[in-house]
Amino acid sequence: METDWAGTYVFRAPVVRPADVDAVRTAVREATHVRALGTRHTFNGLAESPGVLLDLTALPDDVQVREDGTVWVTAGTTYGALARELHQHGRGLHNLGSLPHISVGGAVATGTHGSGDALGVLATAVREVELVDADGELRTVRRDDADGAGLLVALGSIGVVVRLRLETQPSYGVRQDVYRDLALAAVVEDPAAVTGAGTSVSVFTRWDGRADAWVKTRWPADVPDALLGAPRDPVSRDGITDEIRGNVTEQGGVPGPWHERLPHFRDDATPSSGEEIQSEFFVDRADAGAAIAAVAALGDRIREHLVVSELRTVAADGLWLSAAHGRDSLAVHFTWRRTAAARDEALPLVEDALREFGARPHWGKAHHLGAAELERVVPRLAEARDLFQTWDPRGVFSSPGLVGLGVRSS
Ligand SMILES: Cc1cc2nc3c(=O)[nH]c(=O)nc-3n(C[C@H](O)[C@H](O)[C@H](O)COP(=O)(O)OP(=O)(O)OC[C@H]3O[C@@H](n4cnc5c(N)ncnc54)[C@H](O)[C@@H]3O)c2cc1C
Repeated sequence: METDWAGTYVFRAPVVRPADVDAVRTAVREATHVRALGTRHTFNGLAESPGVLLDLTALPDDVQVREDGTVWVTAGTTYGALARELHQHGRGLHNLGSLPHISVGGAVATGTHGSGDALGVLATAVREVELVDADGELRTVRRDDADGAGLLVALGSIGVVVRLRLETQPSYGVRQDVYRDLALAAVVEDPAAVTGAGTSVSVFTRWDGRADAWVKTRWPADVPDALLGAPRDPVSRDGITDEIRGNVTEQGGVPGPWHERLPHFRDDATPSSGEEIQSEFFVDRADAGAAIAAVAALGDRIREHLVVSELRTVAADGLWLSAAHGRDSLAVHFTWRRTAAARDEALPLVEDALREFGARPHWGKAHHLGAAELERVVPRLAEARDLFQTWDPRGVFSSPGLVGLGVRSS
């Protein structure tokens, strides 16, 4: 049985593991319907295909650091593997996700991961990608192409990306400090004071009036001893909650290389809790306080279904299907218990509360939004759909799921 990482979705399509790019091209040519699979960290059937699935992690990892400061990486390579190689070459990425275990191709295809008031999602570092199109031909899409911003985050619906070229920068250090027992009301009052306290900030809460702020700061830098009245914890405690333990990166202000501090989770440990479903919604940062207050008001009704929530920010970008398209965003995340009640009862409450803010769902996490509502909150969805149709008129990379989301018309 082939499932997603968390075991929340069972794939119906058979999974094929191509050993090289020629095998990808042959598989695409021979299939009526085919879609790519990365490390399967999505919590829904986004990757599902009515035909076959090609698991890109079977392709050998290949990382080529270039003189011009960019790096070519194979799509199935994880950010963890890429980061180690880059660091050895004295290079770094502008940002990383909360876990290093995800594939570069999957994170870029979904426009996901990467936090910070001034930092864009991981896909904003992409210069170009090489993909296998519906005829099995290798094609290049560049960010600067006329349609580049529409094609880089395509949810796998224009082809199978086999290689990506990313921008890098000189390697840098980061320290991670945790401010414990912050009043959630203070975050509602002045969200920017918290999210702007470092390079990348995550606020964890169970909507019980209290929160912890994890502040990641590019080093060297001074950090305050308290944040909105909450003291800085000098000790590195290995966990987010009692249920998520033994897997997080070092805290307590100990400086370390960017790739060992920016993610919450260590590459050598299982991230998060495993027995879970995740949801996440992106609102305009101008509405951050009101959106946090709206969810806080649901606290008593959703808490029993929740492991933990996380609030984080991401900078606006121009990628059509990125959740941060055109607006500096606050992301409101939920790690739910893996139960039907969490998905069918608690999640709709959150969706109702965030609807007035035009909340956009994370493409790879659980939500109930259909094509009509998505078109209302994702401004360039209709244009993207038309663009994908011209790239793949036969619907080789389409699926009923993508049609249901309004990402494909057929
Ligand atoms: C424990 C855990 C923590 C998480 N934390 C975060 C978080 O902090 N922030 C966040 O934004 N997300 C988070 N996620 C969600 C998840 O990591 C993203 O959705 C992930 O980036 C998807 O990448 P993947 O390689 O797992 O893709 P998959 O799930 O394998 O595929 C996702 C989509 O991308 C397409 N795709 C994958 N590879 C390719 C390719 N080579 N070519 C074309 N299309 C492709 C697939 O067809 C599918 O549509 C988390 C998930 C887990 C399990």
